[in-house]
Amino acid sequence: LPHQLREYVDENTIGVVAILGVTYTCTYEPVAEFAAELDRLQAEKGLDVPLHVDAASGGFIAPFLHPDLAWDFRLSRVASINASGHKYGMAPLGVGWALWRDKSALPEDLVFHVDYLGGDMPTLALNFSRPGGQVVSQYYTFLRLGREGYRQVYQACADTAQHLARQVAEMGPFTLLYDGAGALPAVSYTLTDPASTSWSLYDLSDLLRMRGWQVPSYPLPPDRQETVIQRVLVRHGVDRDEIELLADDMRRAIKHLDEGRPQDASRASFHH
Ligand SMILES: *Cc1c(COP(=O)(O)O)cnc(C)c1O
Repeated sequence: LPHQLREYVDENTIGVVAILGVTYTCTYEPVAEFAAELDRLQAEKGLDVPLHVDAASGGFIAPFLHPDLAWDFRLSRVASINASGHKYGMAPLGVGWALWRDKSALPEDLVFHVDYLGGDMPTLALNFSRPGGQVVSQYYTFLRLGREGYRQVYQACADTAQHLARQVAEMGPFTLLYDGAGALPAVSYTLTDPASTSWSLYDLSDLLRMRGWQVPSYPLPPDRQETVIQRVLVRHGVDRDEIELLADDMRRAIKHLDEGRPQDASRASFHH
């Protein structure tokens, strides 16, 4: 939480990272509030700590679905941003982006000056021969779909996620943690009462896997590890019909688990 920053930030802090699209819950961290708190810390203590935004998952969602959310270089505190083209960017696996606010935000010692075939070539990339096809592919997708195309694709994903969220809420055993509105096109939830449920989310993941669905279950990070959650990401190409099949399989699996044997304690601690 933003107010906790002052417990951690001191004169040795080289930067703070805010996450736009938290892996666990699929929500956005409050980047602007982090920035405001760092502004206050600078005013009070003179510490000028830059903010990096890890927008691996949200970097290609927020500009299209939440254009008024200031999480990027509109905030003067933000010095750098990364975004994964291969997640919600619709580019092939292996392309990610890192942006710096300006040249002064990129330390000169990260840049290699290569004297290559007779000229100075400043490069920040990994050196030597690497494929550039994914970059070209993402460039093509930008041109092909445009801003409005990206918006339509991801609005459809978000609508599908919210449709699933409504069904998950009605299934009975779950409490929604995120309903697909306001951040990633995704849903996350937990068992409302794990102690009196005869099965675990891991059991549910296993049954869904038998039907071809990879729905991960995992504990939250240290300090909240007793809470196990499950999430569904809705990507480009997953439509209502498909998510309807998932919801049907979830209802069937829950019925099966409710009728089945009591939970085997040795499996309760298994996780992916
Ligand atoms: C996926 C992810 C990464 C790693 O990104 P890659 O493009 O897979 O290297 C970093 N941070 C967050 C929050 C992520 O979701």
